[in-house]
Amino acid sequence: RMEVGKLRTGCEEFDELMGGGIETQSITEMYGEFGSGKTQIAHQLAVNTQLPRDMGGLDGSVIIIDTENTFRPERIEQMVAGLSQKLEQDFDPAEFLKNIHVARAYNSNHQILLVDAAMEMANNLKNTDKPVRLVIVDSLTAHFRAEYVGRGTLADRQQKLNKHLHDLQRFGDLNNASVIVTNQVMSKPDAFFGDPTRPIGGHILGHTATFRLYIRKSKGDKRIVKLVDSPCLPDGEAVACITTDGLCD
Ligand code: ATP
Ligand code: MG
Repeated sequence: RMEVGKLRTGCEEFDELMGGGIETQSITEMYGEFGSGKTQIAHQLAVNTQLPRDMGGLDGSVIIIDTENTFRPERIEQMVAGLSQKLEQDFDPAEFLKNIHVARAYNSNHQILLVDAAMEMANNLKNTDKPVRLVIVDSLTAHFRAEYVGRGTLADRQQKLNKHLHDLQRFGDLNNASVIVTNQVMSKPDAFFGDPTRPIGGHILGHTATFRLYIRKSKGDKRIVKLVDSPCLPDGEAVACITTDGLCD
């Protein structure tokens, strides 16, 4: 087993909550309402992963499986500019964009297949100066939610999700990479979907994702990140800010 890496988020409280950063060889699930900041944090991690280790990165490249077409290159450019300022470096945004490989997933089966494609790409990059150290699935559950409606299909959905997460865990293990997945939840009960405070794929995700982070909006640009049911870290909360420059204290 390779030594576990820690990817810093750009927010000290958040890093401390995670025991130093987002771990490699683990799945970290971020769940929360629409607009809570899951995609923003994912963008920031796609930038930070590329930093050298002494700057809190993993010196690697990134694969994003984008299921909702929410990846924004301009946002990466803003965050790289923010980082250049913060770390007093002259980072080239184009260089960062080059190391983020985005694949659009058109349905849940395609999404599952893209993990195989990711594995192939990671193998090709393994002995370069930028091996893949982060894979993001944003959103993990949106296609599944849309495609599997009704009671009869629930078991089927869980089984597919379970396989998908298993593949992702394997990806993380084999590449010493972090795995980030997002999962939208509703805040208020909904007559149609049932108890919404339980994330879709609830049970299975609960047992498979090593770290579960509940993200919610607070005042202004503040977000509260809550670590839930971690097997190895104390539960707790951190306050992070999402600004134009990216994630910060
Ligand atoms: P969903 O479940 O719908 O995918 P999400 O959790 O992914 O939602 P995000 O898209 O990450 O939510 O968050 C959107 C919020 O991020 C915006 O409402 C805004 O507050 C903040 N945001 C987005 N872009 C910027 C920016 N350039 N500068 C500052 N804040 C921004
Ligand atoms: Mg999003």
